[in-house]
Amino acid sequence: MALKYKRILLKFSGEALMGKGQFGLDADTLKQVVGEVKALHDLGVEIGIVVGGGNIFRGAQIQGAGIQRTTGDHMGMMATVINAIALRDVIESAGLSSSVYSAMTIEGVSSGFNVNEVKKQLANGNIVVFAAGTGSPFFTTDTAAALRGVEIDADIVLKATKVDGIYTADPVKDASATRYQSLTYDQVIQKNLQVMDMTAFVLCRDHKMPIRVFDMFKDHAAIRIVQGEDEGTLVSSGE
Ligand code: UDP
Repeated sequence: MALKYKRILLKFSGEALMGKGQFGLDADTLKQVVGEVKALHDLGVEIGIVVGGGNIFRGAQIQGAGIQRTTGDHMGMMATVINAIALRDVIESAGLSSSVYSAMTIEGVSSGFNVNEVKKQLANGNIVVFAAGTGSPFFTTDTAAALRGVEIDADIVLKATKVDGIYTADPVKDASATRYQSLTYDQVIQKNLQVMDMTAFVLCRDHKMPIRVFDMFKDHAAIRIVQGEDEGTLVSSGE
């Protein structure tokens, strides 16, 4: 089957990697996520991954303890590096080649982000994991996903969430909530739907980068998306 999306930017939150736990990483969940990544790779999809850090630390959570917000955000970005190097190892243990490019370099641990190198890696079938978000405090890894997606000329940003798309209301709290099949950027803004934070969202809108919100743990959802099937919710300019 032909691919609709050849190069993708996948975004996982840190929480997606902690499984049923309350903190940190869950080995089975990591393996499950990497199983889906491998299935995408086997189809010939070029994959960049932005991973969050909320399973370990978020900058805002330490405020009031005498720690500056910027320090908290540096701690949050370092949490994403922990997740990224773990993910890289699990990807490699599945027989694929993977590298971490980080917006914060840690000698011997993660190389600095270099867009030309990254594009070559992707074209060669290596899976690139982006760490440390944008490298700047007061941003989120959603914004990093939008930014890296645009930078690497991805065909789409795939945002993995706990629910299988964008709903009219929180489906956990409201049984009558229904899923949108597709939305335009303007509809998301008008309806104040929480797809990504606004900075991330506006970056995607300005660069006409489509976003698909989907459930990574729904069997082969990502595979169906790259093959052009209707899965989750698509946000685009509607053109
Ligand atoms: N962060 C940051 N700048 C960025 C990306 C992340 O300062 O460009 C920090 C911020 O403190 C954030 C934390 O890293 O709370 C973890 O990222 P995020 O909350 O986006 O992770 P997720 O919710 O996706 O797991």
